[in-house]
Amino acid sequence: MRPIQMVDLKTQHSHLQPELNKKILEVVNSAAYIKGAEVQKFERELEKYLDVKHVIACANGTDALQLAMMALGLKPGDEVITTNFTYVATAEIIALLQLKPVLVDVHPDTFDILIDELESAITSKTKAIVPVHLFGQCSQMEELLQLAKKHKLYVVEDTAQAIGADYIFKDGRVAKAGTMGDIGTTSFFPSKNLGCMGDGGAIFTNNDDLAKQLRIIANHGQSKQYYHDFVGVNSRLDSIQAAVLRIKLRHLDEYCQARNTAANNYDHLLVGVNEIVVPARVKNSTHVFHQYVLKTRGVNRDDLKTYLNEFGIPCNIYYPVPLNEQLPYKDDSRKFTNTDYLCQSVLALPMHTELGEDQQGYIINKIKEFIAL
Ligand SMILES: *Cc1c(COP(=O)(O)O)cnc(C)c1O
Repeated sequence: MRPIQMVDLKTQHSHLQPELNKKILEVVNSAAYIKGAEVQKFERELEKYLDVKHVIACANGTDALQLAMMALGLKPGDEVITTNFTYVATAEIIALLQLKPVLVDVHPDTFDILIDELESAITSKTKAIVPVHLFGQCSQMEELLQLAKKHKLYVVEDTAQAIGADYIFKDGRVAKAGTMGDIGTTSFFPSKNLGCMGDGGAIFTNNDDLAKQLRIIANHGQSKQYYHDFVGVNSRLDSIQAAVLRIKLRHLDEYCQARNTAANNYDHLLVGVNEIVVPARVKNSTHVFHQYVLKTRGVNRDDLKTYLNEFGIPCNIYYPVPLNEQLPYKDDSRKFTNTDYLCQSVLALPMHTELGEDQQGYIINKIKEFIAL
């Protein structure tokens, strides 16, 4: 059995190595490292894949969120509602721009922002909602979009963990994660479902004006070279990363499939194990399993993690602390019962495109062994 890894990029890349090496060398020899043709080609190919009008590549997923908030023209003091159970970047960018992050509790099974609580968090200062398609499954977008429309709020979808996931509306219409709100953002961090070999990110929108604005903001606020209309930032994807992403984008659906196969196999191996709750699937979204996150029931999660680690099985806690308990985002004004519970009971098992059935069998046997102790 190969050693078990949380994410196995070496093996994934080994299948693409000749193509990757050739392409990377081509870019190196072209010397067009910034704003080269590869970046434009990648943007157009991703637009086609997502069926969205505009893709704007940028430096990373955190920048993508920042550019989105800036393009919407939000002002200091405006409130932006997001989930209390997410990676810090989502709330960080809201706070960085001196907007007020308003955190909302999540559903204990789907990890998704609670729509009822979201609505009760809306005030006259609320300007935007940032749903996070956590772990690879879409938020309840239909309800969320209706709510946003009713209260005239912008929607920015944080799609860093869910690129390629499909959302199915009640009328049967299907849309890719990140293309339903005003703006979608994603990350190409190496371990994400579509990862490059360094940092990278992108923004999606169907709105021509926002697209134009996003490109200007990402390029120092300049609409014409050396003419700066407002304070922007410098955020770009480089050509080598774009070249790598073009190759890997062609395999994204196959990667999603491999992750689903692995997830279903975990589920199958865990049938009848009452101390473990496998990740819930919702009907109106596909799941791309950025993470396979289970919950423990009646056994100590931290002890299980230590036990698995001792047997060479990496596993991780996403996320151990609710955002409202992190120093910069402190909020004791409300209870976040579900987030608190999840931070105590979630555990992410190894999940990637190269997971072997033998490895999965070993992992689940060790979980059963721990429970039987
Ligand atoms: C990874 C991630 C980000 C940030 O992406 P970077 O490319 O690391 O800046 C933002 N939001 C979520 C939900 C993420 O998982």
